[in-house]
Parts: sequence; structure tokens; C-alpha cells
Amino acid sequence: MKCPCGSNQSYELCCGLYHSGKASAPTAEALMRSRYSAFAKNQMEYLRETTDPQTLDKIDEEANQEWADRAKFLRLEILNASENGTKGTVEFKAFYSVDDEEYVHHEVSTFRKQAGEWFFKSGKVKEAKK
Ligand SMILES: [Zn+2]
Repeated sequence: MKCPCGSNQSYELCCGLYHSGKASAPTAEALMRSRYSAFAKNQMEYLRETTDPQTLDKIDEEANQEWADRAKFLRLEILNASENGTKGTVEFKAFYSVDDEEYVHHEVSTFRKQAGEWFFKSGKVKEAKK
């Protein structure tokens, strides 16, 4: 099976490595991709583990779970990814459908590196346009 993140690699050799804990995402972009795949694969535990602890209490995990249950994840598009020391920024579009209706979630996420591991810090949703 191809990885949901769109890398064209098999899931086991891509985001599956991070979900199973065999490896850590080496870049902010890799972490972003693996978090998208986590939604697609219903790996909610992974989403929690890769969220900055300081951000975690602001995350509505129930809403995330509901979204993961209802949505079909179609594809991920990385528009921009940059890193500067322990800070990373990734702009992406996540395409998904709910009840056969297509949607796109356009977000700029910021990431933080701590002890060699990347964590999701916060996200800013951009105006949704197809
Ligand atoms: Zn992947």
C-alpha cells in the first residue's frame, strides 16, 4: 500500500516507520506528512505524541477523532516547508471528503524541535479555496 502522504513509497517504509516508533521524523515536513498519514490511518495516539505538550491542552482530540472517522483523506500537498534551527514551518493543503463532498484544509503549521524530535506546535488555517 502506498503511503497516504503521497510520497509514492510504501506506507511501511514511509510514515509507517514513524507511526510504529521505529524512527523519528527527521524534518518538520516529514513530521507534517506523517501526521497527515496518522489521520488517514486513524493513528490518534501518534498525533498526541507528536504534539508539543504545551499545545496539547488546546487541541480538541475528540473533534480530531470525529474528523478522522468521518473524512476520507484524498491527498496532501506541501506548498512550502522551511526550517530554521529548532523552528519549522510547513504550509500545506490536505484534501479530504465527507459524504462524497470534497474539501480542502489549507494550513500553515509551526513545529518545534526538542531533543532531536520534531513536535507540532500550532496551526493557522488559511481561507479555504479549491
Ligand atoms: Zn508517508
